Order: sequence, then structure tokens, then C-alpha cells
Amino acid sequence: ARALPASTDVVIIGAGQAGLSAAWHLRRLGLEPGTDLVVLDRGPATGGAWQFRWESLRLDDAHKVDDLPGMREMGLSFATADVERPARDVVREYYDRYERFFDLRVARPVHVTGVHDEGEGLSVTTTAGDIEARVVVNASGTWARPFRPHMPGIADFRGRQISTPEYREAAEFSGRRVLVVGGGTSAVGFLRELEGVAAETIWVTRRPVTFVNDPKGGVKAVRAADEAARSGRPLPSIISGTGLPATPANLAARDRGLLVARPMFSVIEPDGVRWEDGSFERVDAIIWATGFRAELSHLAPLRLREPGGGMWVRDGRSVRDPRLFMAGYGPQASTIGANRAGRTVARQVMAELERSGVRTP
Ligand code: FAD
Repeated sequence: ARALPASTDVVIIGAGQAGLSAAWHLRRLGLEPGTDLVVLDRGPATGGAWQFRWESLRLDDAHKVDDLPGMREMGLSFATADVERPARDVVREYYDRYERFFDLRVARPVHVTGVHDEGEGLSVTTTAGDIEARVVVNASGTWARPFRPHMPGIADFRGRQISTPEYREAAEFSGRRVLVVGGGTSAVGFLRELEGVAAETIWVTRRPVTFVNDPKGGVKAVRAADEAARSGRPLPSIISGTGLPATPANLAARDRGLLVARPMFSVIEPDGVRWEDGSFERVDAIIWATGFRAELSHLAPLRLREPGGGMWVRDGRSVRDPRLFMAGYGPQASTIGANRAGRTVARQVMAELERSGVRTP
């Protein structure tokens, strides 16, 4: 990792879509990467969470991936990316070119272990030393915190259990009876890949599944998450509010019985799962594609959690600590949202630096 300065105006934690977007906007507003602005990422390579996605995931399986600000200036766009190649490789390479083109000087691998109140500013403790910062932009994403619902018997299951980030390839489940839990695009992706490889797949969702042809479907879900963040409540999943895309491939898979979900079972037994009505399904493996929570453990020293467990955030800024900005949090947890977050956060960061006398307008 490159040597970190002892102090800076702004530290950005995370170089995914949200962190890079914030860095680009701050650079354009006059901050010098590497001195006024320090971007830290614990990942070994470029790509944010995308570098860790499974090999078979393609950009066209996912929702639309929004271009980072300034990408077009480089002649680069995800819209024209090669969809034959793994999404993780494409995004890793694009981000790499982006960071170099705009000279964003991301320091990696640097793990932020804590953010502490130092009176005037904040102290960011990392595996590469401490940095004093006037302002911190947290853009740490969710990938490291997959969520599993608490189910009775979960610890007694004798088969294999994984969450989305541990999924590698369908072949690992060859000949197995696999239960996939979750109503989002990851679950659908796994089911489609496992077809013909696993002996059987069983799909379970907590809510009934709907396939919708509604490009505006995300708006309602984003609004719900935004309301939660504004009042400090824990965030609902975005996908749970949007429904699944009614693509020809998804509809065909539904019609042949692959994408037909059963309701949630009530208990896990050593060899399978049991529903409330007593019916039982023997399974060898359970894949939990049940979403993510924000990764915020490094912010714990600031004690910003509300009693309900959420953080009180308005327009990408902590209401309780105005030196802390949250990019990509909650309603911003998509590449479009992350891009927008970068812009709104950058403007407010500059205003805060001016207000505190660190920079002149
Ligand atoms: P991330 O990409 O997760 O970046 C966060 C970065 O912070 C990481 O590099 C991480 O290493 C770093 N970090 C975290 N904690 C620390 C720490 N303590 N110290 C230092 N560094 C730290 N969105 C879309 O818009 N379109 C899609 O098609 C799409 N597909 C998806 C598919 C899957 C399977 C999943 C799980 C999500 C998908 N999303 C999609 C949502 C997507 O993850 C977000 O849109 C976006 O990529 C998130 O960007 P981010 O910058 O917030 O987080």
C-alpha cells in the first residue's frame, strides 16, 4: 500500500461505485487525491464488491450498471461492455482504468478498523496507520455482511450452508438437492445455473414472488428505504420492494417449474427443512440469498446507532455527526444511487470544509 499522510481533509472508506463517484466529484471540486483526499480500500484489487462476485455472473444478468461520472470522457461505458465476460473482470478492469485516468490514488489493501471522535476532526485507524480527517465519507458497501434470517434448527443442519458471497459455481452442487432461499436476482441466478447440475432445486421465499415489467418499480422501494434512513430505522431490502424482472428467460423458467417459489419453511432439521403443515423436504445444501446489511462495524466507536439498530441519515449525511457522510447507504445501494450519492455528498463535504474554515470558498 502507498504511504498514508498523517492528516487530510477527507477520507473516503471504500472504492466501490459510491466511493469512486464521491472521489471523482471531490477532485473536480478542487481536492487533490493523495493529499487533501485519501481513498482507502481493503480489497486486494479494483472493483469494489464486484471483484468478488461469482465467475458466471454477467453484466446482463444483473440490473443495469450505471456508468461512473466522467467515464464517457474516457470513452468507456458499461452499456457497451462485453457481456460474454464475467462481470467481475469487466468491472475490475473498468474501475482500474478509471482510477488511473483520474489519478484517484486509492490506497489498498488498507482496512479501516475504526473511526473515532477527536473533537475537531475524526481519527481513522487503519492497518496502515492512523489518519486525522476533517470529514469522513463512508462508502463501505454491504458485501461483507450477508444476512441470514434466524431459523430454528439452523445450527443442527448437517448439510452445507452458504450465503451469496460464498457461491462459486454450480458444479460444487452437482447431484445435490439444493434449497435456495431468497426472492432477489441472486437467488434467481443460482436457480437457473443449478438447473440440470443439481439433482433438484427447491426455491423458498419469504414473500410471494412477482415478476414485473415495471421500469419504475425501484422507485417505491427506494422511497421506503429512504424513509427508513431518514428516521434511523433499519433499512428494508430494495429488491423486496421491486419484484423480479419479467424477462423472457425468467418467465420461461417459471413456466417450466424452475422459478416457482414455495413459502418459507418453519424449521430446519439435520437432513432438511419442514413446513408448518408438517411436509418435509430432504436437502443436502442451503444457499441463503437473503440480502445484505450495511457494513458499519468500523463506525461503532462513534456510537451513532439508534435504539432500533439503524443509523439516522439524511441526504447522505449522519444527522448526529455532521462530519460523517454515508455514500451508498440504504436507498443509494445501487450503482445509480451510488453515483448520485457521490455527487450530493461531495457538495456537502465541500460546504462543511468551508464552514469549518479548512478551505476557502
Ligand atoms: P461496494 O462495491 O461493496 O464497495 C465497498 C468497498 O468498501 C469495497 O471495495 C470494500 O472492500 C470496501 N470496504 C468495506 N469496508 C471497509 C473497511 N472497513 N476498510 C476499508 N475498505 C472497506 N447494482 C446495480 O446497480 N446493478 C446491478 O446489476 C447490481 N448487481 C448486483 C449483483 C449482486 C450479486 C449484488 C450483491 C449486488 C448488485 N448490485 C447491483 C448492487 C451493487 O452492489 C451496488 O450497486 C454497488 O456496486 C455498490 O457499490 P458500493 O460502492 O456501495 O459498495
